[in-house]
Amino acid sequence: MEDQEMQEKIQKSKRYANESDRFKLLSIKTEMTSRHGSRLVSFNADNQDWECTCDFYQSRGTCSHIMALQQIMYNLFPKSNLGNNLKDE
Ligand SMILES: [Zn+2]
Repeated sequence: MEDQEMQEKIQKSKRYANESDRFKLLSIKTEMTSRHGSRLVSFNADNQDWECTCDFYQSRGTCSHIMALQQIMYNLFPKSNLGNNLKDE
């Protein structure tokens, strides 16, 4: 059965997929698995607040898990404001 309406939506999605600046991240919630276990890493765009459940984050306010996720999300959504604590290499 031909579904013209759905075909148009699929074509539109392909255009949008190449225009990632149309998308603005509002929040992120992830589980990251390392050799030491699982950590929950999250981001709330309302207050530019990154959080992680690991011990290093509790004492230092950032950690390798947050930095890694920032790099991933920055590559996917270069126009989103992901906070100003992206670390340069
Ligand atoms: Zn962490």
